[in-house]
Amino acid sequence: MSSKMKAICITAAKQIEIIDQNIPIPGPTDVLIKVATSMLCTWEQRVFLQIMPLPLPFVGGHEFAGEIVAIGSSLREEDFPIGSRCAAALTHNCGVCENCRRADGTRCKYTHDLEYVEGRSGLAEYVLADAKNTYLFPNDISYERIMFTEPLACVITGQDKFNIELGDNVVIQGAGIIGIMHAQVAMLKGAVVTIIERDEQRRQNALDMGICDHALNSEASDLWESVDKITRGKRFEIVINTVAIPSVIAQSIKLCSENGTYLMFGKVFPDEPIAIDINKIQSSNMKLAGTMASENRAFLRAAKILAAGKIKPETALLSELHPITNAQQAFENSLLPTTFRVGFKFFE
Ligand SMILES: [Zn+2]
Ligand SMILES: [Zn+2]
Repeated sequence: MSSKMKAICITAAKQIEIIDQNIPIPGPTDVLIKVATSMLCTWEQRVFLQIMPLPLPFVGGHEFAGEIVAIGSSLREEDFPIGSRCAAALTHNCGVCENCRRADGTRCKYTHDLEYVEGRSGLAEYVLADAKNTYLFPNDISYERIMFTEPLACVITGQDKFNIELGDNVVIQGAGIIGIMHAQVAMLKGAVVTIIERDEQRRQNALDMGICDHALNSEASDLWESVDKITRGKRFEIVINTVAIPSVIAQSIKLCSENGTYLMFGKVFPDEPIAIDINKIQSSNMKLAGTMASENRAFLRAAKILAAGKIKPETALLSELHPITNAQQAFENSLLPTTFRVGFKFFE
């Protein structure tokens, strides 16, 4: 095996180059993964546009799938057989700090320690992952499906902030890929799911996919009439906002029922103060919850339901797979409102 690998690198705003990096060598508890497929999330898009000005050059990629090719000295091959298909969380959770011990590895004190380190990014031919964050799949599950484990794990981590009961009215603001996966998970839990989406094509798409019971246009003149008809005037027990626009937040609060929970999924840009009906929150016993990244138990459950085929996101949510030589075009296409996830295929 050569000691060099190719990586897809953001070298300047809106500029991609293929660079050579050293193939990383696994530490005692690391797994070396040969990347098969990898896709672009809003995080990579924001760095590409330099809306999120992380230091350049930058190799991202946290939504990927691959094959185990080497393991660290303290791991057993029976646990991580060479040749196994896998997904992995690249976020660092030490297991020792107080947040990790409180079962919230997403807030690990050392979470930034592994970011931007060579060999720890999925937009490269090889990536190192911590064994405790690596999840195996049967070899008949496609890499295209496996790479959805990370975003699905983020969705499940968010939904772990509340308990959906059978028949609960759940509304999801936004029918992008995260909104659709939230709807799919809520449907599996027996909720009555409503999608609210501004883009008519995406709204219709959500209905056609059969991932919700109702899909409303947020600009429709009869929006609140429809909401009250669906919920019999009670509004929604759970409101999940996946739209990262400040103006949507006031609507979220209005959509929430008494005793309801509002989950903020995406990070809002631009990051400015937002006026909300704070007295409604107080007088209606509402709960506000935030969520970021994925927690290990959620990653495990995401891997299990994907392996079982309970959700097949790759059929509708993967718009394009490019060879890495086409990386510039792939990044540009990922920004189009007509694409869901755009990704790369590293080998056949
Ligand atoms: Zn992501
Ligand atoms: Zn920690």
